[in-house]
Amino acid sequence: MLENQLDLLISEDESPGLDQLRHDLSFVAATVAQIAASLPVQRRPLTPFARMLHCRVVWLRRNGLCPACQETEVCNEEGKLPGAEFDHWVNRYRNEPEATWLVCSACNRALEDVRFKATMRSQFESYQNALRPFLSTQREMFH
Ligand SMILES: [Zn+2]
Repeated sequence: MLENQLDLLISEDESPGLDQLRHDLSFVAATVAQIAASLPVQRRPLTPFARMLHCRVVWLRRNGLCPACQETEVCNEEGKLPGAEFDHWVNRYRNEPEATWLVCSACNRALEDVRFKATMRSQFESYQNALRPFLSTQREMFH
């Protein structure tokens, strides 16, 4: 975008000085883009719908227990308990219900280890199976 604006600016006067300036500016733009790309990216927060849905499914299908360890309470009838966390199972950009789940903080920390995560795959898939029937009906009710 910056380059296009620059093209407009200098199109009427193609002096060598402006060419150099244009070259320098595109270098700066490329460097800034590179820096931006390497910054740590925040996980996309879950939508209110996804949060609500996970709390309902964990409450109704897992008795409020963390679907990973099945030991720690993560929610009750009113919603998420303090300390419970939404894990981005697929990647940090995917924030939809099918790519996330509500787990206890200990599991969420442990899930950063790929070996532990591998042992939890069947729990995640089983949880997603429990969630699936809720998806379409709850989505209609929520909107
Ligand atoms: Zn857990």
